[in-house]
Amino acid sequence: RFEGTTMFVTGGAGFIGSAVVRHLLRETGARVVNIDKLTYAANLASLPGAIENDRYSFERQCICEAEALRSLFEKYQPDAVMNLAAESHVDRSIDGPGEFIKTNVVGTFTLLQEALRHWRSLPPDRRARFRFLHVSTDEVFGSLGRDGLFTEQSAYAPNSPYSASKASSDHLVRAWRETYELPTLITNCSNNYGPYHFPEKLVPNMIIRGLAGERLPVYGDGQNVRDWLFVEDHAAALSIVLERGSVGGTYNVGGRNERTNLQVVHAICDLLDDLIPSSDGSRRQLISFVKDRPGHDLRYAIDASKIERELGWEAKESFETGLAKTVKWYCQNRDWWQAILARGYEKSRVGLGPGY
Ligand code: NAD
Repeated sequence: RFEGTTMFVTGGAGFIGSAVVRHLLRETGARVVNIDKLTYAANLASLPGAIENDRYSFERQCICEAEALRSLFEKYQPDAVMNLAAESHVDRSIDGPGEFIKTNVVGTFTLLQEALRHWRSLPPDRRARFRFLHVSTDEVFGSLGRDGLFTEQSAYAPNSPYSASKASSDHLVRAWRETYELPTLITNCSNNYGPYHFPEKLVPNMIIRGLAGERLPVYGDGQNVRDWLFVEDHAAALSIVLERGSVGGTYNVGGRNERTNLQVVHAICDLLDDLIPSSDGSRRQLISFVKDRPGHDLRYAIDASKIERELGWEAKESFETGLAKTVKWYCQNRDWWQAILARGYEKSRVGLGPGY
C-alpha cells in the first residue's frame, strides 16, 4: 500500500501523529515526512527506529509559517498531507486559548493554502490522487445527554476553546473543498489512549500517579462519559480513510467503548494492583474528587457505523485489552515518561492533574 508515495504527517512527534508515522512505516511502503514544531507535547523518542529508516524524514517546522511550508512542498512533492499538528489539551486551552487559535486555526489555514498551491502545480494524474486528510475530534459536536450518539450529521456545538478551535479548522477544510476543490477528508475521533501518551492526559496521568502511590484526582463526581479508542486503531483508521475515503467526506471514528471517568480510573487501579501489588492495599483508595472543570462536557459517544460499513475499518482492541496493554507499556517503559517528568513541563492551572 502507498508504494512510491510521499506523505506529510504534521504533528508526527505527538501522541497520535507518532502512532501514524509508526503505522505508515510498518504497514505501508510510503515515504513519510514528519513536520513538527516540537512543542512541550512532542517527543521524538516516540519514534524508535524511524530515524534509521530511509523512508522517513523529519522537518522541525511550525505549520503557521507559509514560506517554510512552501519550501517543504517544493522539496518533497507530497501525494498526501495528514494534519495532526495541534494544541490538544482542553485544560491548557482554558488557561491560554491564544496558542490554540494560532496552531489549530491559523496553522490549518496556512497548511491548506500551501497544499492548494502545491496541488494546483501537480500534473493531472497526481492531482487526481492527492489528498488532504484533516484529523479532528468528536468534541466539536459538544456534549451529549445520557442517550444518543454523534454521527457525521451531528451539528457542531463546541464548548471549550480547544473544541472551538478544532471546529473552526474543520470548517476551513470543508470550505477549501467546496470553494477550491482541494481533495480533502475529515475524521472526527473519540478519546484516544495507548503507549506514548503525554503524562498530562487522564490515562497516563493515573497510571504514573498510581505507580507512585500518589493521590488520583478525578474531576467532579467522575460521571463524565468518554468513548475510548486505542491509538493504534485510530492510526489504522486514518490510513484506510486516506486510501479509500470518498473525497469531501467526513468519517467518525470510535470504538464503542463508553466509560465514565471513574470507571476508567477504577480499571487502571485494578490493572496496576494485579501487575504491581501495593503494600498499602487497593489503589482505588487513592482516588479523590476535585472541583469540576468549567464547561465540562457530560458525555461524548461516537457512531462509527459509516467508516465500518463503507471502508471496512473496525477497532481491533476492546477497552479491556487495550487498557491492559497500555498499563503494561507504562510499567515497562518508565524511561520514556520519566524523561518527560525530569525535564519538567508547565502544568495547567485549571486542571489539578486529571486532564481528559
Ligand atoms: P499531541 O498534543 O500529543 O501532539 C500534537 C503535536 O503537534 C506535537 O508533536 C506538537 O509538537 C505538534 N505541534 C503543535 N503545534 C504545532 C505547530 N504550530 N506546527 C507544527 N507542529 C505543531 O496531540 P494528539 O493527541 O496526538 O492529537 C493529534 C490530533 O488528533 C489533534 O488534531 C487532535 O485534535 C486530534 N485528536 C486527538 C484525540 C485524543 O484523544 N488525543 C482524539 C481525537 C482527535
